[in-house]
Amino acid sequence: MSKNNPGAQSVFSVDVEDWYHILDIPSAPKMNEWASADSHVEKDFLKLLDIIGRHEVQVTCFFLGWVAERFPHLVKEAVRRGHEAASHGYAHRLVYEMTEEEFYQDAVRSKKIIEDIGGRHVLGYRSAGFSVTKDTPWYFEKLIEAGYKYDSSVFPGPRGHGGLKSERFGPYVIKGEAGEIIEFPITLAKFLSKPVCFFGGGYLRLSPYTVIRIMGKRVLREGRPVVFYVHPREINPGHPRLAMNYKRRFKSYVNLNSTEGKISRILSDFRVTAFERYIEENKERLKE
Ligand SMILES: [Zn+2]
Repeated sequence: MSKNNPGAQSVFSVDVEDWYHILDIPSAPKMNEWASADSHVEKDFLKLLDIIGRHEVQVTCFFLGWVAERFPHLVKEAVRRGHEAASHGYAHRLVYEMTEEEFYQDAVRSKKIIEDIGGRHVLGYRSAGFSVTKDTPWYFEKLIEAGYKYDSSVFPGPRGHGGLKSERFGPYVIKGEAGEIIEFPITLAKFLSKPVCFFGGGYLRLSPYTVIRIMGKRVLREGRPVVFYVHPREINPGHPRLAMNYKRRFKSYVNLNSTEGKISRILSDFRVTAFERYIEENKERLKE
């Protein structure tokens, strides 16, 4: 089975974490309670791999190090099916709540765990809640030092957790002292002159598929890849709910029953691949 999809223009990614890994919610279990919490990630992720598998494409799976350690077979299964295993950090902490050193240690630890399990180099990183901000100026240098080659964590507009306002909406190279790293910002499209992400999270679930498709094609016409992102919990409308205020509840749980169908349609209508392969095929362009 070919997973190459040559000429792919977009990237599809999965943040592999459990249903309770939602940030800044007092009712979410603390890290020392994770091991005893009810877990759905195994079932949901394997189901997601089956949905993706029907389209014969390669995607990037950003594993939370804690999840990889506890469910190593999920990393192995993703790699066995030809997908890229990358890192979502170890402990799902917001970058701006860590010190430089804590961040570095967490990034190194998760990388090593996933590499040891998957038997492949881990090239990519995605921070919890896209929490790189203007308050974490050391972020890219630390990722380079930790050995990462690309990152997909900049949300170039305002949002609940962080957001790093920027005029650069497509991928770009960041040069640091210890080397360089490619940044793939979360894809935003202008909607009523406001930059909106239709390609993951609440807006992906809220928007009718036709809107997602139109906005995605518009991004491609602007010469940018669409970076899609989903979580295993989003294809399981029956997963437990955390207590939270109305606004967060809406954002976290709206239209969960629509995600599976939308993922299938995205994988049919967009030529997607993993970050690793996208970089490989677009090396020259990314340096411009
Ligand atoms: Zn996450």
